[in-house]
Amino acid sequence: MTYCVGIDVATFKKGEGLDLAAIPEPDEVDAAWCLRFLRAIRDVAFATIDADGLPSVRVIDVMAVTDERLYFLAPRGKAFHDDVMREQFVALVGQTSDYRTCRLRGRIAHPEGEAVQHALVDALFEMNPSMNLLYSGENRYICDVFYIEEGKGEYFDLGQNPVFRKPFALGGEPEVRGTFFITDACIECETCVAACPEQCIASGSPYKIEQSHCLRCGICQEACPVQAIVKR
Ligand code: SF4
Ligand code: SF4
Repeated sequence: MTYCVGIDVATFKKGEGLDLAAIPEPDEVDAAWCLRFLRAIRDVAFATIDADGLPSVRVIDVMAVTDERLYFLAPRGKAFHDDVMREQFVALVGQTSDYRTCRLRGRIAHPEGEAVQHALVDALFEMNPSMNLLYSGENRYICDVFYIEEGKGEYFDLGQNPVFRKPFALGGEPEVRGTFFITDACIECETCVAACPEQCIASGSPYKIEQSHCLRCGICQEACPVQAIVKR
């Protein structure tokens, strides 16, 4: 059954079934895979800015995903609903028990129209039958449906040695923040290579940090004798 343009339960079901125990190949990790990973974790931390301008966080279910969108619900009485309606932006992060994390922050869409909202609620309740225990019968329609379809995120496997990380984007280019780079001021002294706990700095002119294996700890920056390492 189609619930609104382009979205039906069959589409949502394609986002199911990712095996959380399986370590992905680097090429496998893209936006669609990361959304499926978050759906498999399911209970993830959602952060917003509250009415006082302060950070607020709570655990919310990822109710369904497609290749490009992540869907969640917010009952209209909750402060979380107020926050997302006001800010139109959310950040979320989920982690497995073996220290693999996926985070995403992005703009929220709120499909308009009661019929569309009700149809989406029906679809998401079909995907997540346990929701009926909380919101039985017509009570389900106190929930509003939101989705993220424009945002930036990163998959981060802290359990590997060296660590592995890969940015992704829902629309546009992946975001690169808080990364360390070696500039032309490098005198090739090798101090950073010896100091790096992840062995992810390669010699060259200048030396180069392998970003996908960098912990972003900053040890190399503090060790460099000529301040050749910068954070961007
Ligand atoms: S930030 Fe840490 S992990 Fe990354 S290159 Fe520097 S020392 Fe290595
Ligand atoms: S410690 Fe600084 S100068 Fe030495 S190799 Fe590393 S980046 Fe270059």
